[in-house]
Amino acid sequence: MNATVETLRNKLSADSIVDGGSLSERHFVDWSGEHPCAPIAVVRPRNIADISIIMQQCSRDRQPVVVQGGLTGLSGGATPRPGELAISLDRLVGIEELDAAAGTATVLAGTPLQAVQTAASEAGFLFPLDLGARGSCTIGGNIATNAGGNQVIRFGMMRSLVLGLEAVIADGTVVSSLNKMLKNNAGYDLKQLFIGTEGTLGIVTRATLRLYPLLPAKTTALCAVADFDAMIDLLHRLQAGIGGNLSAFEAMWDSYFGYVVEHVAGLRSPFDVRFPICVLVESEGSDARADHDRLEAVLADALAAGVLLDAAVARSEQDRENLWRIRDGIAEITPMLQPMLAFDVSLPIASMPSFLAQIDRAARARSESARLLVFGHVGDSNLHVAATTGREQDFPALRDIVYGTTGEHGGSVAAEHGVGTLRKQYLHYSRSAEEIALMRRLKGALDPLGILNPGRVIPD
Ligand SMILES: Cc1cc2nc3c(=O)[nH]c(=O)nc-3n(C[C@H](O)[C@H](O)[C@H](O)COP(=O)(O)OP(=O)(O)OC[C@H]3O[C@@H](n4cnc5c(N)ncnc54)[C@H](O)[C@@H]3O)c2cc1C
Repeated sequence: MNATVETLRNKLSADSIVDGGSLSERHFVDWSGEHPCAPIAVVRPRNIADISIIMQQCSRDRQPVVVQGGLTGLSGGATPRPGELAISLDRLVGIEELDAAAGTATVLAGTPLQAVQTAASEAGFLFPLDLGARGSCTIGGNIATNAGGNQVIRFGMMRSLVLGLEAVIADGTVVSSLNKMLKNNAGYDLKQLFIGTEGTLGIVTRATLRLYPLLPAKTTALCAVADFDAMIDLLHRLQAGIGGNLSAFEAMWDSYFGYVVEHVAGLRSPFDVRFPICVLVESEGSDARADHDRLEAVLADALAAGVLLDAAVARSEQDRENLWRIRDGIAEITPMLQPMLAFDVSLPIASMPSFLAQIDRAARARSESARLLVFGHVGDSNLHVAATTGREQDFPALRDIVYGTTGEHGGSVAAEHGVGTLRKQYLHYSRSAEEIALMRRLKGALDPLGILNPGRVIPD
């Protein structure tokens, strides 16, 4: 029996604590699936006051906690470590206000991303953060991991969509900074302490999010190019030619594209031949005909200039869905590639070709059966690499190869999914000793007892 759990049982409503045989395995591990561990109990606060009470008590007892949103994280951050109490935000759900004049939505942190997208759309707005886990991931988790996804090239990551937020820090203090204004330079921008810091500095409880006008017209095309330089030329032509309308530029090397169209049932490439790289391009605007014509004009020029080898523009919603299924096919091929490691790294764009050549060489030197499938949000400097040699024993070597090479090129070992527990030992490839020391000082200042998501992000 744990003293903190027993005290909290008396302070919170009876249904707020789940432990013993009633614990669901859902709370033992995040989507990474690595190192599952039962928490000592799961606390399910009903409101912000409950969270403050929980943290005050945990501070008194020096009880470590792990914060859990939708548990779709891929870095092990929401997976309990031995002896931790899990705080689940699954009851902190709801859209509190949609302010049409300001173009903002104020929501509780446990609200699923998709619920926010739907509420915004019903009110004639767009909430542009979008990712595959939209139905399960929460706004608090999106903020804690500074989530990215498919439309970053146009709208930025979660950080640029948060105008204000509220958080409970380790001693139980509620810091409310629910700003709605685009401009606010009155002192430190405290919300930044909690965005992308993966619950190590505070528990996000509410957020005021930035909405955009709904954009009804989407034009989607698959573009084939001969090499990396041509792809970047195409990117620049699109940025100049369709300007702010460019909302996706998703590159798929043939290692990925070919595998997906060959192995996923019901998928077909719109091209009869294979190309070195295909790029899924999307334009979003308010005038379907004009937007379509502008995109086609840019593609026709690129074709005439020899930058583009071929292009297929979606003529129907079904065509569009088919193209996106190829890009999202990673979810369907992951089980076929096991044992497999999924890397999510950022690199200066000019370094990408040599980075890819280096990791390919090194992986093949390790094992002749090494296979690297490459795709990603190239316009955001972000590459995904699915790597397998067919043997789990090669995982540590593959991690060293990919993260070490990322470091050599001045890249980031965590482009989108955060550091959590699974990447903290590689943080030094992307952050200097001084940067890591300052992270430690910030952690010590906000959580001097080290009870809030301990052992995440910052190396031991
Ligand atoms: C199919 C699939 C596709 C994905 N695609 C993308 C993608 O395109 N881009 C991308 O960025 N990510 C992607 N992800 C990863 C994941 O969905 C995101 O990291 C998401 O933001 C996590 O939200 P969550 O609510 O599930 O957080 P959890 O997994 O519950 O937690 C993640 C981290 O945030 C902390 N945390 C959670 N809630 C709070 C809170 N309220 N306050 C403080 N800390 C908190 C946790 O302690 C943990 O450290 C994908 C995942 C899956 C499974």
